[in-house]
Amino acid sequence: MTVQGRTVVVIGAGVAGLAAARRLAAAGATVTLLERCPVVGGRVRTELVEGCRVELGAEFLASFYSRTLALVRELGLADELRRIPRSAATLRNGRLYALWPNATVALTPLVSPRHKFALSYLLGSLARYAPLLDIHAFHKASPIDDASVTAYARAHLSDDLLEYVIQPPLSGIFYWVPERTSRALLLLVLRAGLSQPAGMRLFTLSRGLGQLAAALASGQDVRLGAEVEAVVPAAGGGYSVHARSGGGAMALAADAVVVATTASAVPQLLPWLDADRRAFFNAVRYSTTTTLAVGTRGRLPRVTYGLLFPRRETPFLASATVQTVKDPSSAPRGRDVICLHLSGPATAALRDYDNDTLARLMLADLRRLAPRFDPLPQQLFQHLYRCGEALPEFEVGHFRRLQRFARGEIELPHLAFAGDYLGGPFIEGAIVSGEAAAERVIARLASKAA
Ligand SMILES: Cc1cc2nc3c(=O)[nH]c(=O)nc-3n(C[C@H](O)[C@H](O)[C@H](O)COP(=O)(O)OP(=O)(O)OC[C@H]3O[C@@H](n4cnc5c(N)ncnc54)[C@H](O)[C@@H]3O)c2cc1C
Repeated sequence: MTVQGRTVVVIGAGVAGLAAARRLAAAGATVTLLERCPVVGGRVRTELVEGCRVELGAEFLASFYSRTLALVRELGLADELRRIPRSAATLRNGRLYALWPNATVALTPLVSPRHKFALSYLLGSLARYAPLLDIHAFHKASPIDDASVTAYARAHLSDDLLEYVIQPPLSGIFYWVPERTSRALLLLVLRAGLSQPAGMRLFTLSRGLGQLAAALASGQDVRLGAEVEAVVPAAGGGYSVHARSGGGAMALAADAVVVATTASAVPQLLPWLDADRRAFFNAVRYSTTTTLAVGTRGRLPRVTYGLLFPRRETPFLASATVQTVKDPSSAPRGRDVICLHLSGPATAALRDYDNDTLARLMLADLRRLAPRFDPLPQQLFQHLYRCGEALPEFEVGHFRRLQRFARGEIELPHLAFAGDYLGGPFIEGAIVSGEAAAERVIARLASKAA
């Protein structure tokens, strides 16, 4: 199918928008990407701080990201993939327990045999609902979008499993709380992870995940610092896209538009959308987090890459990652970086605290919880980043919204949407949704041309 000579504007150069633009350009469209930030990548962003790599957003790719890993190969980055050698641990009464993503959870003394026995119910659910659990089609899980993770765990598992095995990864990776997460999401992610024949593995890229965004953007017409203010239907069909760039205004005419921003930005960009569609986008909520990156002289303990803190042990920190365990080359010899992430509820409760106070509080919490990882004695630098929209919440009801989207009730002719709130709350979901949005635009433009 070709759309040679047709013009498409993609709004947002996160990985969803970049993947959409790449697919559209490959089909022959003339594509312009408009990005309000001075860099591409959105929530995938690697920064160099005093010679150390710091991930401000996504930290890893998982082995079940089949489309992302294929794209990594297509982009010539296969040799840049680095396996993350030691995965995650959680904490109970000051002791670390290996938790995830391997099967050691079945042997762990973290919870008692009685509680572990309850895991068999979870395995039963995974088997029973297997046909609904498609990581590339979240909407299929809408029949089991009927209870929160907490309600499901309290009814069928145990409080200990909820608080020490399920909640730490949910909150440490997605910054969600189980009360506001659908059990459909839990089962989807568990199935994806457990279906890996060699067990789930994690990867990064040799220059950080920003390398993926940069490679996707390479050769594309990306206008950085171009903030779109409105998309207006044009009289003769197509759309007029109005943006601000470098203090001036610009308007681009397009046969089709892909809006690849977060859901919350959509109603403002398209003020003429009807109430039903506006409600669809307004309903998507995002978790929040604050990241504190601390550089050290000397290397931190190498026992684990990620520490996932149960809320029973602390209301503040959700997780911490040791960057040179992830990839020894991420910091110069004899240096290291630890990234601390504040939990979603703590970020909301402490949002008025200034950066210094927040950083002090986070470091004091780490010292109390896991003193071996305290970077302070040899601290080199610290930077604090606030993330107002971290991950879209896949709460009860969101899967039913996705089903409406899949039925075609939300998009308009030649206007498509992409992003992790549609495809899944990780890089794979964003990329798959971007490519799918491009395919829908290509099909509609090609059928009009025929
Ligand atoms: C702290 C954190 C840790 C994470 N860890 C992981 C991880 O380890 N692994 C993983 O797979 N995923 C992780 N994620 C999730 C992953 O980063 C996201 O799912 C993914 O990057 C979302 O991509 P996207 O393109 O949908 O959205 P975004 O990356 O948010 O892209 C949207 C883009 O639109 C732009 N934009 C918005 N409004 C406008 C406008 N008006 N005009 C022009 N441009 C606009 C934004 O600037 C942005 O660049 C993490 C996220 C966060 C925040």
